[in-house]
Amino acid sequence: MEKLYFFNTLSRSKEAFKPLRPPMVGLYTCGPTVYNDQHIGNFRTAIFQDTLKRVLRLSGYQVRHVMNVTDVGHLTSDADEGEDKIEVGAAREGMTAWEIAEHFTQRYLKDLAKLNIIAPDVLCRATGHIPEQIELARRLEAKGLTYRIEDGVYFDTSKFPGYGRLDPSRLEGLKPGARVEMMAGKKNPTDFALWKFSPKDKKRQMEWPSPWGVGFPGWHLECSAMAMHYLGESFDIHCGGADLITIHHTNEIAQAEGATGKQFVRFWMHGEFLVMNQAKMAKSAGGFVTVRVLEEKGVDPLAYRYYCTTAHYRKQLDFTWEALEAAQSALNRLRDRAQALFQESRNSPGGVEETALVQKRFVERLEDDLDIPGAVAALWETLKAGAISPKAQYLFLEACDAVLGLDLLKSSQDQLPEEIRRLVEEREDARLRRDFKTADEIRLRLAAKGFVLEDFASGVRWKKRQEKESRP
Ligand code: AMP
Ligand code: ZN
Repeated sequence: MEKLYFFNTLSRSKEAFKPLRPPMVGLYTCGPTVYNDQHIGNFRTAIFQDTLKRVLRLSGYQVRHVMNVTDVGHLTSDADEGEDKIEVGAAREGMTAWEIAEHFTQRYLKDLAKLNIIAPDVLCRATGHIPEQIELARRLEAKGLTYRIEDGVYFDTSKFPGYGRLDPSRLEGLKPGARVEMMAGKKNPTDFALWKFSPKDKKRQMEWPSPWGVGFPGWHLECSAMAMHYLGESFDIHCGGADLITIHHTNEIAQAEGATGKQFVRFWMHGEFLVMNQAKMAKSAGGFVTVRVLEEKGVDPLAYRYYCTTAHYRKQLDFTWEALEAAQSALNRLRDRAQALFQESRNSPGGVEETALVQKRFVERLEDDLDIPGAVAALWETLKAGAISPKAQYLFLEACDAVLGLDLLKSSQDQLPEEIRRLVEEREDARLRRDFKTADEIRLRLAAKGFVLEDFASGVRWKKRQEKESRP
């Protein structure tokens, strides 16, 4: 690849990307808060981050990817008030806080695998890094950047020059005289908790001793502490969803740079929301869609990954079931095409040079701030034009898939839900036995479930009936 350009939230412009210590790239992504399943909105951000990682790898970089798991300290309100989401989730599910965090972490990792998202090199839990967080808060205290009030130790944002530069529009609304509700004792509306004391009247499941008293870390502290622990005090790229810019990432910068006096992160990259019915998909809002729900409806999780290629990562993506079906059939068509190309070119030599030619157009789109919709359009155009040999087209699909992660070389016939696959096989057996009555019965049962079979000399193939009304 020639040169990568990424949009940097910090400068609000596209900048040429250069790592601090090539060929290494340090990448930190904010991970899940594990009190519930992640929804496909969360996974849109995870897919964007995975695509970024794959493009960096394609460019010859060695990516060290660190992702946190928030298993303590994320409160139900962004204003350092409310209850700990993990403890609330634990009560809901009848588990301990530790159990619920582990339970949903494991489910999260399974979902990542289903979406072909490459696991991070380091997966770090907030509860596993309490000493690092206390140490960072102590450094800030030593520099006079903190103060203590009844419910915890706070970061004094007025003492950190340049506070809030990741989102200057927020400070506009907080100019002197603006009416903002503020917790008693807080000096500035933007100040935030580094360490919260356990409530006096209630025993928390997760709490630790600290120089200031028994309690737990504020949510933002974990990311600054763990990112610096694993990637150094300055590193290359930090990502997350757009909702993290204003508070979480702003506070991460204040904590890290307040302690070290060095630039924390070179490139801040943020993915826009997945929206459904005009609202951001959110765990707290209910009615969200999980990978499990996709599978229950017979949708391949990778069809959702294809869906994510239809919008640039910095644009909102609207979710509808109809559009997801269209994504599933587009993905099936690509896979069918790959199978046909494979059959056609099985014994033909070459193809590599022709592939390099068309690949350039695909790669150029990636270099321009990860223009995945543009890259996928280039892929379809190449296949439609058919100007290169079947072998070259097949190799091209293979190369594109290294970035797209869609299992394009896998036959769409493998994607049947288990129960349906068994029925298809039973019907095949019946046909071989010339028991056409049973075969027809099974065909009808499959049709009732929305699967249409077509018999070919080479065997049976299936299609999913397009049925709008079967979706909520
Ligand atoms: P959480 O588990 O809520 O801490 O979120 C994990 C990641 O998902 C963060 O990077 C969020 O910014 C991101 N996220 C949350 N909701 C959405 C959404 N509707 N669309 C895209 N990303 C989201
Ligand atoms: Zn974070």
